[in-house]
Amino acid sequence: MTVEARKIRLLMALRRNGVTDTRVLAAIERIPRERFVPDPFQDQAWEDTALPIDLGQTISQPLIVALMTQALELGERQTVLEIGTGSGYQAAVLSRLCRRVYTVERLRPLLTEAEARFQALRLNNITTRHGDGTKGWPEQAPFERILVTAAGGPDAPKDLTDQLAVGGVMVIPLGDDYRGQRVVRIRRTETGLTREDLWPVRFVPLLSDPPSPPGTE
Ligand code: SAH
Repeated sequence: MTVEARKIRLLMALRRNGVTDTRVLAAIERIPRERFVPDPFQDQAWEDTALPIDLGQTISQPLIVALMTQALELGERQTVLEIGTGSGYQAAVLSRLCRRVYTVERLRPLLTEAEARFQALRLNNITTRHGDGTKGWPEQAPFERILVTAAGGPDAPKDLTDQLAVGGVMVIPLGDDYRGQRVVRIRRTETGLTREDLWPVRFVPLLSDPPSPPGTE
């Protein structure tokens, strides 16, 4: 089967599974997922499946990328903070749908590879940072949209909800080991935070790094 045929099959599967936003579907169609997938898995780049990347991490399943992006209700003039750059695929999809993406990754080698992909694809509206994303990106806050692509505990990290603008939306997988994870949508209103549980997922954990002494980064 040609790449083109695989792509069409994937897009049809996304539609069948609730991805109705045509901008999101177009972004998935345009970002070459094969560029984000390691060599041994090239033949599966357009399958609807998560795949391993380096250092025990994963590039998420396209359906989850599409549904989380759709749940973010992203406007084209907005700015998004993504936590967990990984391969860079989700950031690349977001970058086609908004003004600027800020993305944070704690594993330096993954970030270096993702940065090379962004450059090669000329995705010039993505800004990256190496560090602990649970602290957010205070210098650029508040954010209209925040997407976390690693699973937090029972609640979203406080630094992240604090950096969500009024009227802003955060999409984050939450849950403990026992009850499983669910994608949750959090909105900041004038009076506080609201929370909606969306659907079950499995993500690698959101890890908080122990603080490192100054000057060692
Ligand atoms: N969005 C990625 C998939 C992410 S996998 C993609 O499209 O490929 C989750 C990523 O979150 C991993 O790369 C992991 O290293 C990273 N991560 C986990 N905890 C983190 C933290 N506290 N800050 C930043 N990145 C974190």
